[in-house]
Amino acid sequence: MRLLLIEDEKKIGLPLKKALERHLYAVDYFTNGQEGYDEAGINEYDCIILDLNLPGMDGMEVAKNLRDDGNLTPILMLTARTEQEDIIEGFENGADDYLRKPFHFQELLHRINSLIKRNSPQKGETLSIKEIEINTTLKKAYNKGKEIKLNAKEYGILEYLLRNKNRVVSQEELLEHVWDREIDSFTQTIRTNVKTLRQKVDPSKKFIKTVKGSGYIADEN
Ligand code: CA
Repeated sequence: MRLLLIEDEKKIGLPLKKALERHLYAVDYFTNGQEGYDEAGINEYDCIILDLNLPGMDGMEVAKNLRDDGNLTPILMLTARTEQEDIIEGFENGADDYLRKPFHFQELLHRINSLIKRNSPQKGETLSIKEIEINTTLKKAYNKGKEIKLNAKEYGILEYLLRNKNRVVSQEELLEHVWDREIDSFTQTIRTNVKTLRQKVDPSKKFIKTVKGSGYIADEN
């Protein structure tokens, strides 16, 4: 799943990006409100983490402009402001949740995960297909209860396919939701990771299927 993080304080933003990446999220990080807003119009994010006091464009304005554009990506507001009015104003401008700084990283993780869940076709915390199960909070995959070690991209592909179970997902869509903007030669990377993912969870190609010319599907039937 891919996150957009807009936070001007680098001593908060940079470690946060690193920590989220360790939890297998793809993260694009911006310190300027205008740049973050522009990027949200280009890429399809699963959740936006938005600071309020920002250079370029204020967080409130970012949220309001995104909603005015018809962008429905869940927004989690980060606020150092303690006034109740700011939180209410944030919700009125389209935020879905908020967290006051300083916050516990675990709480942030839970809030991000629950916003993504709510917004997905498959809403469970635990998702499964055949004998494979994933825990989307722990970001772990299991085969009949036994953990399967996946790299960040393999896990990301598996979660995205399971969140969209029984629907064909194109390579472009996987790229949008599993990779951040630093990626270079993507088609090969996707193919390679789908291949190794399959070797680990579905070696006989029973449910992670390639749909020629269209993409991939986690097909339960
Ligand atoms: Ca700030």
